[in-house]
Amino acid sequence: MKIKCPVCRRKTQWQDNPYRPFCSERCKLIDLGAWASGEYRIKGMPDDESAAQPSDKETENA
Ligand SMILES: [Zn+2]
Repeated sequence: MKIKCPVCRRKTQWQDNPYRPFCSERCKLIDLGAWASGEYRIKGMPDDESAAQPSDKETENA
């Protein structure tokens, strides 16, 4: 049986997987940390980056 890791969305094995429903210990820790801090997902939102990128590139080019 295969499942999708809720953190990185990669397909991973359900059987013999100590980190399920995650694919690895790393993804498990990421998810736990996200819930614990409550800010991980908000700071990682793509909206933040796309808003900051245009001005950054303009200053680099000039
Ligand atoms: Zn994962």
